[in-house]
Amino acid sequence: MKFVLPRGTRDILPDEVCYWQYVENISMDIFTRYNYREIRTPIFESTDLFNRVIGEQSDIIKKEMYSFQDKGGRDISLRPEGTAPVARAYISNGLNRHSGETKLFYKGPMFRYERPQTGRYRQFHQMGVERINCKHPYSDASVIAMSYHLFSTLGLKNIKILINTVGSETCRPVLEARIKQFLASNLKNLPEHLHEKFEKNPLKILDSKDPSIETYLSGLPDLRDTLSQSSRDHFNLVMEYLDCLNIPFEYSPKIVRGLDYYTETVFEVVSEDLGAQSSICGGGRYNNLIKNIGGKDVPAVGFAFGMERVVMLLQEQGIDIPNRKTHIHIAPLDPLYLLDAAKIAKDLRYAGFSCSIDFEKTDLSYSLKQANKFNASHCIIIGDEEINNKSVTIKNLTTRTQSLIDNNAIIEYLNNETTL
Ligand code: AMP
Repeated sequence: MKFVLPRGTRDILPDEVCYWQYVENISMDIFTRYNYREIRTPIFESTDLFNRVIGEQSDIIKKEMYSFQDKGGRDISLRPEGTAPVARAYISNGLNRHSGETKLFYKGPMFRYERPQTGRYRQFHQMGVERINCKHPYSDASVIAMSYHLFSTLGLKNIKILINTVGSETCRPVLEARIKQFLASNLKNLPEHLHEKFEKNPLKILDSKDPSIETYLSGLPDLRDTLSQSSRDHFNLVMEYLDCLNIPFEYSPKIVRGLDYYTETVFEVVSEDLGAQSSICGGGRYNNLIKNIGGKDVPAVGFAFGMERVVMLLQEQGIDIPNRKTHIHIAPLDPLYLLDAAKIAKDLRYAGFSCSIDFEKTDLSYSLKQANKFNASHCIIIGDEEINNKSVTIKNLTTRTQSLIDNNAIIEYLNNETTL
């Protein structure tokens, strides 16, 4: 019997995992600099939580949730995103007891039953931040600026930050009415699948990927005019802070985000180098979410980025990631020397090197091939002459030169040869 991967999932093999670790380490470093602390929540939660937070009209709730009843008859869903669980955890652990802001970050797998394609999976991974109990526009700008700090530190090129505002909860009906009014005369020409959106969630028509919609949206008036003065002021200040922090961004009225909980500022980070799935990061402000699931009335702002897409972009753009530890391969040329090899390996590992030994085969040309496969910087060769001289031969695999080194001087020699 042959088992295959479930559709929409993938194995992440060691050569790619280095990229994942690079992104995770840099992200954690950057988030910590902005005083965010990690939170880990379960991979599944009650289905009600997501229904409540994400909104009945969103694609996620309508067709993408991995939902099931557990053996106790509870309705459970694999998390499709990270904000709802973090907000739930914020309330259930009483993090809202403390006055002032709570800044959290998370990482882990998310699950959506989507049509798989390059850059779109059914199990994918996000890292994200939530800045809770903050209403000042500086918080929105600072969260956006942090995403820029992160992606530029990773070395990503050709990325764009697109920002928009969807106004407050009270602006929403006015905004929707304006879009409907604008599109009404073209309703019969709109693609069939947008008719339901027109009725129930017209804002979502703006970010439809359907190319035919472009024609019907041209001439759409500036929707910021429909927003309240305080929403407009908020957004203007966000842009002012971003300018002042020197963060490049574009105002993009078509960014509205797929999840219903957003209010005021929304943003996406995109890259044209990614093809159809161009969005690497999305976020915005969600002022009512925590109140709507039983918490205090605390406004918040956050973002999440997709690990798969960031890693794809790093590879696509040929960005070198720092080498892993210097690796040394050891080649004992006789089974009698295996113990000597093991002792040297132990000393090297305690000294901070990564190290491997050929135990199964004592054959120099085989060992040199293994050393190349492991990307070793040096190969330590232990043969008769070396044992007689209480020393080893160390071959530099870049320069192809080799030297006989006394057993007591191996670590000092390798420390000089490599930069640990
Ligand atoms: P969202 O939670 O939909 O706002 O998505 C935030 C980010 O997660 C996106 O910009 C993508 O990088 C990533 N993402 C969302 N859905 C998927 C998916 N099905 N497969 C891979 N990455 C995804």
